[in-house]
Amino acid sequence: MSGPAERWSGREGTVGDATVRRALPRRGHRTVGAWCFADHLEGRGVDIGPHPHIGLQTVTWLLEGQVLHRDSLGSEQLIRPGQLNLMTAGGGVSHAEETPPGWSGHVHGVQLWVAQPSSTRDGAAAFEHHAELPTVDFGAAVATELVGPTSPARRDTDHLGLDLDVRAGRCEVPLDATHEHALLVLTGRLRVGGESFASDELAYLPPGRAELVLDAEEPARALLLGGTPFPETIQMWWNFVARADAELDEAATDWNAGHERFGRVASPLARIPAPGR
Ligand code: MN
Repeated sequence: MSGPAERWSGREGTVGDATVRRALPRRGHRTVGAWCFADHLEGRGVDIGPHPHIGLQTVTWLLEGQVLHRDSLGSEQLIRPGQLNLMTAGGGVSHAEETPPGWSGHVHGVQLWVAQPSSTRDGAAAFEHHAELPTVDFGAAVATELVGPTSPARRDTDHLGLDLDVRAGRCEVPLDATHEHALLVLTGRLRVGGESFASDELAYLPPGRAELVLDAEEPARALLLGGTPFPETIQMWWNFVARADAELDEAATDWNAGHERFGRVASPLARIPAPGR
């Protein structure tokens, strides 16, 4: 075990009708492994009209509620707590996230992005839904592996995403010491190395740790995101992850012109235009 965890706090924003706390990206630290975006959202339904992505994977994970995913590949998939939606954008995809017809209630979850490496970022788009994911007990926590060595979810880089459902007590989570990690507390409070982290606080752990020891005085829920520090310098703007301004400009122009690279989404919601650059 080396040094204390670095404390980061999320900042507030809104997406559709939902309140979000954005933990990533951060100025001066844009990625944790390949993870480049983390929104913790809570509100009455999620209604985000068709919008495009390039160069990233979207990871949707719910704690409460339901969301209907539709994309330009023709996917139409309801997601519930404990299930994973994973969309790979490659060179272009578009999607909408909707409140399912006839359903209204509280939605609580996370939307994460994973930067794709250069080897796949210009490739084909894809969508996966996983209703069953592997779990493992780490003392007081049941960990669900969203993405990692034992998850069936596609992984283009060596990254890890765990949901930790923590009872009161201690849990010991083994870590790959070559990875950097971020623990994002979603509900409750967790102690990391004697320091307390509340919801929407993130404990950043640089490479060099073989274990994460968590103590909970009450039930808590957290995500552990990790991976090999991303070796490429990315540029993020709006819904795009690229390597150069020209790629971002082209993607925005293409989306606003209705270019076929982004396909069509069969959604009743209004299409969201790219803002000016
Ligand atoms: Mn999206």
